[in-house]
Amino acid sequence: MINDVERILISEAQLAERIKELGAQITADYAGKEILAIGVLRGAVVFMADLTRAIKVPVAIDFMAVSSYGAGTDSSGVVRILKDLDENIEGRHLLIVEDIIDSGLTLTYLLENLKSRKPASIKLCTLLNKPERRKAEVQIDYNGFTVPDYFVVGYGLDFAEKYRNLPFIGILKPEVYK
Ligand code: 5GP
Ligand code: MG
Ligand code: MG
Repeated sequence: MINDVERILISEAQLAERIKELGAQITADYAGKEILAIGVLRGAVVFMADLTRAIKVPVAIDFMAVSSYGAGTDSSGVVRILKDLDENIEGRHLLIVEDIIDSGLTLTYLLENLKSRKPASIKLCTLLNKPERRKAEVQIDYNGFTVPDYFVVGYGLDFAEKYRNLPFIGILKPEVYK
């Protein structure tokens, strides 16, 4: 698996350091409140596990799975809910946890859907932000790292369901995609 990696973009240590900072910032912003962290399956799972443990106010967790119709690596903006939340979110403080914001289309749909259920507040925390490919504007409240327009894997992010368990963010050798 490691032999498929061309380059490490963000190391394990850099991830740990930045997540500590995000956790401290979120802890300060939500003082006196309780958070419902909503992880977007499956890419956000690894980040969710580390981020929630870096937050020192009470955090409940729930997950949603969405799929974007459309071929290949491009998101179409037509989103289908594959797994909905188990929790009732009305009146609660939601923290959406995403792996990466690329076109922004998935998140735009998700935010509209969640807003209609009357939460007390919604904020968005993404590990990675790839602004070069944005098609829909998304307000990111907490951003781990801004990355250039590469297809990245690791730390939850996959290529064909592989590489999610790499402990760093990297890019694959071109021959892997063939
Ligand atoms: P968006 O709707 O913002 O275009 O993208 C949504 C999803 O596409 C992300 O949450 C992620 O699952 C996937 N995605 C976008 N860019 C990348 C990437 O560089 N690497 C991987 N592995 N997945 C990506
Ligand atoms: Mg995602
Ligand atoms: Mg994927």
